[in-house]
Amino acid sequence: RVKEHGRNSVRQFIPEMGVTAISRLNMEGALRRALERHELTLHYQPKIELATGHIVGAEALVRWHHPQIGLIHPIEFIPLAEETGLILPLGEWVLAEACRQQVSWKKSGMADLKIAVNMSPRQFRQEDLSERVAAIFTETGADPSNVTLELTESMVMQDVNSTLVALRALKNLGLSISLDDFGTGYSSLSYLRRFPIDELKIDKSFINDIHENPDDAAIASAIIAMALSLSLSVVAEGVEKKEQAELLRKMGCSQVQGYYFGRPMDAAGFATRYREHINE
Ligand code: C2E
Ligand code: MG
Ligand code: MG
Ligand code: MG
Repeated sequence: RVKEHGRNSVRQFIPEMGVTAISRLNMEGALRRALERHELTLHYQPKIELATGHIVGAEALVRWHHPQIGLIHPIEFIPLAEETGLILPLGEWVLAEACRQQVSWKKSGMADLKIAVNMSPRQFRQEDLSERVAAIFTETGADPSNVTLELTESMVMQDVNSTLVALRALKNLGLSISLDDFGTGYSSLSYLRRFPIDELKIDKSFINDIHENPDDAAIASAIIAMALSLSLSVVAEGVEKKEQAELLRKMGCSQVQGYYFGRPMDAAGFATRYREHINE
């Protein structure tokens, strides 16, 4: 019954069924095989520049096409991958695949799109991270200036001295750094100024009720003002409604991402969406 959905099914993952089914089968082994059998895939969610309405980039979000269960979202397997260390090969695959996609976009005339890739804490703490990232750029031919690494606020604030060293090495490659889920961690504002970062992404928990809750609006507005005064680009994630986008535009927010503008899509879906918007 399940099989008929096939490998490319985009059926929503059913938590009750999946987690227990997989843990019985040994989730770790299943994930290890998923890497070998190329069951992982990337979806791409558009990033929109508010001033122009143009798609200026995409965030790569990993999905697992389990042959029996169907599409599994990262929240179901990234934590285990992080615990077991499988995040290292998984993360390398994600970055390489995202780079290959960037090169392919460039070839098909989608040249200026920036690709954003999420990085986990364990990946970020690798001693040789910048060498590994550099090797992936060389291997794939991707242009580092079209690549953004998304690190969470809590990750970079953990050990600020080694963070600073790691960020400098990464920035030397010519890529951009974004602080994801901003507002949920505890940032020391003085480090925000010292870290060589390019972008803040306001966590979607502040955006959800921004149009109805003055406190959330005040927080978002303060983050935007701070980002702009530090010459950082600022992205609001989780924008689902026109009112939210309108408010964020008035606040001076640079970019938005969210279901209102486009859900994460497979590569073909993203290319179609991009072409439609060019012709709008
Ligand atoms: P994130 O990096 O903060 O990504 C944003 C998440 O919000 C994505 O969930 C996206 O689908 C979802 N989202 C986007 N717009 C909306 C919206 O308008 N409303 C709502 N409710 N949600 C929205 P997704 O793809 O399930 O990813 C969840 C998290 O998993 C990501 O959060 C990221 O932390 C992690 N993740 C995803 N891919 C990777 C990866 O390749 N490597 C690592 N290390 N982590 C990843
Ligand atoms: Mg999701
Ligand atoms: Mg992200
Ligand atoms: Mg986020």
